[in-house]
Amino acid sequence: MPHSDVFVIGAGPAGLTAAHLLTKQGISTAVIEADPRYVGGISRTASHGPFLFDIGGHRFFSKSKEVVDLWKEILPNDFITRPRLSRIYYNGKYFSYPLKAFEALNNLGYVESALCVLSYLQKQAFPTENPESFHDWVANQFGERLFSIFFKAYTEKVWGMSCDEISADWAAQRIKGLDLWSAMSNALRNSIAPARGPANGQQIKTLIDSFEYPRKGPGMMWEAAARRVEEGGGKIHMGTRLDSLRWNANTKRWTITAVTAGGDWKFFTAKHVISSAPIRELVALTAGAKIFVGNDSGPAHIAAAVRIPVLVIFGSSHAAVWKPWKAVDAAVVQNYFDCNPCPGDRCYVYEEPRCILSITTEQVKVCLESLLRAAAHSRT
Ligand SMILES: Cc1cc2nc3c(=O)[nH]c(=O)nc-3n(C[C@H](O)[C@H](O)[C@H](O)COP(=O)(O)OP(=O)(O)OC[C@H]3O[C@@H](n4cnc5c(N)ncnc54)[C@H](O)[C@@H]3O)c2cc1C
Repeated sequence: MPHSDVFVIGAGPAGLTAAHLLTKQGISTAVIEADPRYVGGISRTASHGPFLFDIGGHRFFSKSKEVVDLWKEILPNDFITRPRLSRIYYNGKYFSYPLKAFEALNNLGYVESALCVLSYLQKQAFPTENPESFHDWVANQFGERLFSIFFKAYTEKVWGMSCDEISADWAAQRIKGLDLWSAMSNALRNSIAPARGPANGQQIKTLIDSFEYPRKGPGMMWEAAARRVEEGGGKIHMGTRLDSLRWNANTKRWTITAVTAGGDWKFFTAKHVISSAPIRELVALTAGAKIFVGNDSGPAHIAAAVRIPVLVIFGSSHAAVWKPWKAVDAAVVQNYFDCNPCPGDRCYVYEEPRCILSITTEQVKVCLESLLRAAAHSRT
């Protein structure tokens, strides 16, 4: 059975970057990739005859010098700088993105533009407090009307999820520093002086108007990374899909079972596993559980994401913040104390942490039974 120090699931950008950095340090690494032909995951470039197709246009833009240096190390001679042409097709018209104020005004019409500004002002006066979803966050920054015109359909098409199910944190991270005023001042500048030089890393993330691109598409980067992994002694098994992962506490090793595109089984062992497969898929393979019970919010969120009923036992944690977000079948067992919530590294009030120690097995049992009943009911 082939053994490696590290076993990586998935030869997309995350898996290959990890494998490249590990093999560079002489750490033995094996990678499996479900796709029989392409590395690069959703950043791959597929070919058909003489044509190359990028699954998504990928801008190679990062504020992190470490990341940019790594790209240049993997692909030293094949980056080209390209002007960005992104347009939103709305109501039969193209809108440049980043927006150009006068073009947007013309395309939307003066009445619609005025309505957008009014809707923005209304949100400024009555914002959604504690925005939870992408929808809440963007509507607070731009107004409900602009959200529905420029953000909703685009985001839902690209990410395949409702904007009400995408968390506000993600919006804040993707559209960092941007609100209607910065967008409008940028739009005015764009209308007056359209072409600027290459992105300098200081600009607001979604507004950069030139970017670097591998000459033959983003897949070129990941094909080069795969070559480097193999040159460094790593092994990439294409057309090999993870089937199961098991940790053996005695040997302190993982046993990994995978199945090839042809239906054959492969077995591996490793000291460590890195997975870049969708968390949903990984948890379904590792867990297959009927219910999750625990006091760690991380695995609880993951279990909730794969629709496993979740029961979390909290001591000092702020339940409203840490409980699984929008999970249908979820319950929290917690005894409330005046000092709750607290940082939780030790008890600051009593000799022992009464908040967690006061929870009885009977409390958990009652909650578990009612959760299982509710889950059975909601799934019929
Ligand atoms: C339309 C679009 C445009 C984008 N534009 C940009 C951009 O401009 N700039 C940017 O930086 N990012 C962009 N992104 C995001 C970028 O593509 C992703 O962040 C990146 O590909 C994530 O890499 P990853 O390795 O985590 O996952 P993935 O790319 O999803 O790779 C995961 C790999 O794991 C493999 N795998 C999955 N399950 C298994 C299994 N069970 N066994 C074995 N292998 C498995 C998959 O086949 C895949 O190859 C864009 C995405 C889209 C959809």
